[in-house]
Amino acid sequence: KNFEEMKFPKCLIRAMSKQGIVKPSPIQIQGIPTVLSGRDMIGIAFTGSGKTLVFVLPIIMFCLEQEYKLPFLKDEGPYGLIICPSRELARQTFEIVTYYCKFLQEDGFPEIRPCLAMGGVPLNEAMDVIHKGVHIMIATPGRLMDMLDKKMVRLDMCRYLCMDEADRMIDMGFEEDIRTIFSYFKAQRQTLLFSATMPKKIQNFARSALVRPVTINV
Ligand code: AMP
Repeated sequence: KNFEEMKFPKCLIRAMSKQGIVKPSPIQIQGIPTVLSGRDMIGIAFTGSGKTLVFVLPIIMFCLEQEYKLPFLKDEGPYGLIICPSRELARQTFEIVTYYCKFLQEDGFPEIRPCLAMGGVPLNEAMDVIHKGVHIMIATPGRLMDMLDKKMVRLDMCRYLCMDEADRMIDMGFEEDIRTIFSYFKAQRQTLLFSATMPKKIQNFARSALVRPVTINV
């Protein structure tokens, strides 16, 4: 399968080719259709595999569908949440999401607002986006917990959760925080978990967090 067959808008494919991304990588060939189908997924993949687009592109597509059906109101969202273990990874992911959203908007698609919520980013910067209505939040667990605690953001509408580098997050001791974050979800959600390794601890965690996941190992 190539990107055209995955039914992405032409301008998204153009945006990818500008980055030298023309042919889907193995995890993208298997993973993108799985995520688009709505199934929970475990992706066993390293950085460099192209894993980021496996969760970024479908979430953008879901936001576009959502936007047409149900325009976002002020102070609502996020619709999708991406949790990353480190600030560097969160920022990189935020920049990738922002790049594709800007490209789509310039081509006439509705605005999709991403929001970066992590230590080091002033809270009022995130709050500005949240007040407008945020579609995709990219966060580190600590800052997100803090914001949920203070009721600065709600996950009532959130239907899509991706945990990137889950093994690192568990190793860093974030399991409790992530479980607390789960408890803020109200709607049924699609859950994705990416991990470079799959020790017993992550398998058990995944079993409790995902529903009948498809596992993709590349
Ligand atoms: P990731 O594993 O998602 O961190 O991606 C690693 C690098 O590979 C990034 O610089 C991406 O821009 C690039 N990349 C992702 N998918 C592809 C692709 N299908 N073809 C070429 N490069 C890609």
